[in-house]
Amino acid sequence: MNYLQYIRNSYSFIELGKKDIHFFLQKLTSENQKVGLDEIVDATISLHLKREDTIHKMISGNKFRKLKYTLIDFLSSNKKAILTFGGAHSNHIAAVASAGRMCGIKTIGLIRGEELITEISNNPTLRFASECGMQLKFMTRTDYREKTDPHILSKYVEDMGDMYLVPEGGTSELAIKGCEEILDELDASFDYVCVPVGTGGTFAGLLNALQPHQKGIGYSVLKGTFQKEIIEKYASNRNYLLTDDYCFGGYAKIDSELIRFMNNFNRNTGIALDPVYTGKMMYGIYEMIKAGYFRENSRILAIHTGGLQGVEAMNHRLKKKNLPQIDI
Ligand SMILES: *Cc1c(COP(=O)(O)O)cnc(C)c1O
Repeated sequence: MNYLQYIRNSYSFIELGKKDIHFFLQKLTSENQKVGLDEIVDATISLHLKREDTIHKMISGNKFRKLKYTLIDFLSSNKKAILTFGGAHSNHIAAVASAGRMCGIKTIGLIRGEELITEISNNPTLRFASECGMQLKFMTRTDYREKTDPHILSKYVEDMGDMYLVPEGGTSELAIKGCEEILDELDASFDYVCVPVGTGGTFAGLLNALQPHQKGIGYSVLKGTFQKEIIEKYASNRNYLLTDDYCFGGYAKIDSELIRFMNNFNRNTGIALDPVYTGKMMYGIYEMIKAGYFRENSRILAIHTGGLQGVEAMNHRLKKKNLPQIDI
């Protein structure tokens, strides 16, 4: 197993030298995997999944893309630590903590909800972040709403001048640049590129990288399509559709139909999905295929953005409610 494979397959509690960091960051790629559609349509449409989830076990694919240029920028700054924000199960928090551990960068996570301070060992994301050496601080929900206000921040962090701030979810100009690299030249053969949408940063980067004949489809995982503002701020390509038809009522909301779909998909393809992002996107793609949205002979590329680190916590919740759990 080479170094890169080792990093991808392990939780990577190894620290890289500066040269290795650049090597690792430059080498990020993922494979496209064809998914059979025989059970749902006559196969004139083909569907491939870009396995960004294989980039790293704990750093969701798109979160790593979003962090790449931020990490490079941090390394050339003279700030002492990366400070960022997130909720209890945030893929972004897990990604920053893990990248920090790997690159020998000090990280601080401001977490929404002061009650979580006693829950670190019960919460898979917070436990992992803490094991990576991320310093966790817990904000009240009221403060969290104004979290980037310097007065609020100073209540939690003393030496703000030494901090390199990364926004919640990691969306920034540098993040968009990283997401533009998800697609490579061979992906020009696809007609549609699909991705789950949280803040819209990943979708904006993808839209910038699309060819004129390609249409982007974003599946909002929250109620509403307000991410249009972010998308159109960072991308000039308007050949896209953004829908919240498959958001299942809102962020992290799920039902047994979605779980059944995800587990079926996993059984048929061997690919695990997460319930917050990729599960909803795949569900939406299948529904749109069945409804005849895609032209005949279309080639669809869906981005598996990762997010699998969040499944354990969701399964805890499902178990408590006596509901079927998600296969992983
Ligand atoms: C954060 C995240 C997204 C959404 O990315 P945005 O850039 O915020 O739209 C999609 N999939 C996974 C797995 C994520 O963790």
